[in-house]
Amino acid sequence: MINDNGNDNPFDTNLSLDGRPGGLVIAVSAPSGAGKTTLCNMLTREFADIRPSISFTTRKKRAGEIDDVSYHFINDENFDKMIAAGEFIEWASVFGKRYGTAYKSISGNDAGYLYDTLLEIDVQGVEKLIAYYKDAGNPGKLITIFVKPPSYADLIDRLKKRGGISDEELKNRLEVSYTEIRKSNIYDYIITNDDLGRSYLKLKSIVVAERCRNINKKI
Ligand code: ADP
Ligand code: 5GP
Repeated sequence: MINDNGNDNPFDTNLSLDGRPGGLVIAVSAPSGAGKTTLCNMLTREFADIRPSISFTTRKKRAGEIDDVSYHFINDENFDKMIAAGEFIEWASVFGKRYGTAYKSISGNDAGYLYDTLLEIDVQGVEKLIAYYKDAGNPGKLITIFVKPPSYADLIDRLKKRGGISDEELKNRLEVSYTEIRKSNIYDYIITNDDLGRSYLKLKSIVVAERCRNINKKI
């Protein structure tokens, strides 16, 4: 069996901590307010070798958000320039603003150490990534997870609790949530975010299992 380094020495292979070649792209989506940022932050706090991709966006910063940590906040002109320069692996318009993931934010080999990349992106972005990795002949690199709110009432509560949005925005996000939940059948995994501890256990279990997947399995 030829390994990642092009030879058949079973001990000479690029392995991430949990046993499979690193560089997974883990894309998490959810209707706004369902809890994906909370869950993703728990994951990156626990796993040093899972790194969040910081998206570019044209939307305004919310209270408490930090530039270049929460997002790279840029204007429309600079977003257009990045599109023209082919810098995005995917981008989409969400709630009237543009959001994109740069190729350079995706997992690679950093100082000889492989890591996985965590993306918090919308359904349109996931559709684009599924097509991208399929065309690239590497669909197994992408793991897609959809986080569902336990109920519509819970979604409203969480959006209100988080704050920072107008009534108009709240209405808009709730409407869009229907379309997103209908599209959740394209994802590899679905987590219903009822109890936070239980949901995090599910997320962590998915990631750990995917890192152990035998990608060379033959039968
Ligand atoms: P998203 O990133 O999906 O828009 P957030 O992670 O910002 O959502 O969560 C929205 C709000 O819901 C936050 O105030 C968060 O603390 C809260 N929240 C997240 N998960 C749960 C949960 N399982 N139970 C109750 N509240 C939650
Ligand atoms: P928010 O404004 O609440 O931070 O995010 C709004 C929506 O944009 C969320 O569904 C979020 O997942 C999505 N989003 C954030 N970054 C990206 C990105 O880089 N690409 C895409 N396609 N969606 C993104």
